[in-house]
Amino acid sequence: MNIILLGPPGAGKGTQAARLVSERGMVQLSTGDMLREARASGTEMGQKVAAIMDSGGLVTDEIVIGLIEEKLQLAEGNGFIFDGFPRTLGQADALGALLEKMGQSLDCVVELAVNDEVLVDRIVNRAKEAAAAGEPVRADDNAESLKKRLIEYYKKTSPLIGYYHAHKALRSVDGLAEIDVVAGEIKKTLDSI
Ligand code: ADP
Repeated sequence: MNIILLGPPGAGKGTQAARLVSERGMVQLSTGDMLREARASGTEMGQKVAAIMDSGGLVTDEIVIGLIEEKLQLAEGNGFIFDGFPRTLGQADALGALLEKMGQSLDCVVELAVNDEVLVDRIVNRAKEAAAAGEPVRADDNAESLKKRLIEYYKKTSPLIGYYHAHKALRSVDGLAEIDVVAGEIKKTLDSI
């Protein structure tokens, strides 16, 4: 089963993806993680995208589609979880085409529904907790960049809700509930497909 976790920054996509990996043996494909890896290893592409990421903007479709294509060919497991991808309608079309080429389908798009106030609190807390624990704080986890990430989400990514609704793949889960409750709702949703 291949699924997308869809929702704004801070909605809990990464947390829920990690649960699905350990509980179902699925493979998490996070374009955010892939881009951070490219940055950390200092590749030319990583250097090119660093400033865009820090400001909260979106990296070009061409770059993220290339990354996903590369990983899809290597990954093995009990289905894919797309986390933070697709983020534009162009990426959504490209993902459909890639899966079709591989003889695979997209089985479900789980929307984690939340509200903005919670997102800001969660992200500010994530940064504070990381700093207190002596862990690296993401350069884009600050108020200014977060504002841009939210605007980008509403402008470019939220249209995917309508897109996948039209494809009859969309399921919405209350992302404001506790982590275990959200995980339970996702499980119920996936088991019903
Ligand atoms: P979050 O969901 O918390 O905003 P991510 O780790 O998914 O964080 O992404 C961090 C940044 O990486 C984004 O703000 C953007 O700059 C870049 N990025 C990640 N995925 C994509 C994508 N699919 N398309 C364009 N840019 C992306």
